[in-house]
Amino acid sequence: MKAITVEPRKPGSARFEDFPEPDGREGAVLVEAVAVGVCGTDVEIAEGKYGWAPPGQSRLVLGHESLGRVLDPGPVGGLKKGDLVVGIVRRPDPVPCPACAVGEWDMCRNGQYTVRGIKEIHGFMPERWRIEPEYAVKVDPSLGILGVLLEPMTVIAKALEQVVFSGQRSFWEAKTVVVTGAGPIGLLAACAARLHGKKVHVFDRMESGAKPDLVRDLGATYHSGSVLDLDFAPDVIVECTGVGSVLESSVKKIGAGGVLCLTGVGAGGAAPGHSVADIAAKLVLNNNVLVGSVNANKRHWYKASQALAEADRAWLARLITRREKPESFEKALQRTPDDIKVVLQFAEM
Ligand SMILES: [Zn+2]
Repeated sequence: MKAITVEPRKPGSARFEDFPEPDGREGAVLVEAVAVGVCGTDVEIAEGKYGWAPPGQSRLVLGHESLGRVLDPGPVGGLKKGDLVVGIVRRPDPVPCPACAVGEWDMCRNGQYTVRGIKEIHGFMPERWRIEPEYAVKVDPSLGILGVLLEPMTVIAKALEQVVFSGQRSFWEAKTVVVTGAGPIGLLAACAARLHGKKVHVFDRMESGAKPDLVRDLGATYHSGSVLDLDFAPDVIVECTGVGSVLESSVKKIGAGGVLCLTGVGAGGAAPGHSVADIAAKLVLNNNVLVGSVNANKRHWYKASQALAEADRAWLARLITRREKPESFEKALQRTPDDIKVVLQFAEM
C-alpha cells in the first residue's frame, strides 16, 4: 500500500510512497482510509517546521483529521465491518501525569503525550490504518464524508467547554459570542455557538465570497472590520487566528466578566504601544478570563459528534471546498484564498 509521509524537520520531504501494511500492534481495528482533512499543522510539518517520527524511524505518516471505513473490527468492541470511524488523535503519556491518568490527555502536564500524524505515532494518511478500538469513534453514517470534520469540531467542543467552565465561576448568562477568523475552526465555532442559541458575530478579512455567506446562512453576523468597531462588549470571544493585533483588539473589547478563549497559534513580537501589563490591567479590572485551549479528550469527541450530527448537512458540506487525490497531495498542501477545508480523498464513499 501507499502512504503520504514526511521526514520531520526536512522541508519538502513529503512523498506519496510505498509503505508497509499497518502492524497489528497499532490496534485491533483495521480501517480503509476514506478521507483526511488537511490543516495548517500538516502544511507546517511538510515545511519542516516541526514533527516527530516514531522512535527508531526516520519518516512520519502525516494526517490527523481522519475518516475511514472499518475493514476488520477485530475481536472486541462494538464496531462492525463497513462502519465509518474517525480516529482519536492524541494518546496519554506513559508516566502518566495526573491529567492523562484520568483520561484528560488533552490537558497533559508533562508534554510526553503522543499524537497521530504529528508526534511519534503514524497518522491517518496511509491507504489502510489500524487503531485501538477505544480510540475509534463511530460516525453517524448519514454524515458520510462530512465525518472528516469531526476532528476540527472536537477542538471547538473542548474550547466551548473551557469557556463555560471559566464563565461559571460567577453568575453568568452569556448571550453574545464573537469568533475571530472564519477558517474551518472559526466557522465550526460559529456553528456550535448558534446550535447553543447564542448571538454570534464572526470577523475575517474577506469582504465577500464563501466565508461571509456561510456566516450569514448560520443566522450569524459577518464583519470584515475590527472587533474594536463592535457597538457592544461581547460575553465570549473565541480567537481562531493567532494574530497579535486581533488578540490585542479582543482583549480591549471583551465585556466585563467575559471569557476570551484562544485557539489560534501565532508567533511574533509584542504589539507596538501595548505592554503585557496593560493587557493584564484590563483583565484584572474586568474580571476577565484568558484561557488557552488545545486538542480534545474522549468527552469532547462525544460532544463534537453530537454537534456535527445536529448541524445542517448542506451547510457543513460547503466547508469542504476542495477534494484532492492522495497522489496530488502537494496541491492539497497549497492554500488558495477560496479554500476553507481541503480534503485528501483516498476512497469513494
Ligand atoms: Zn500527561
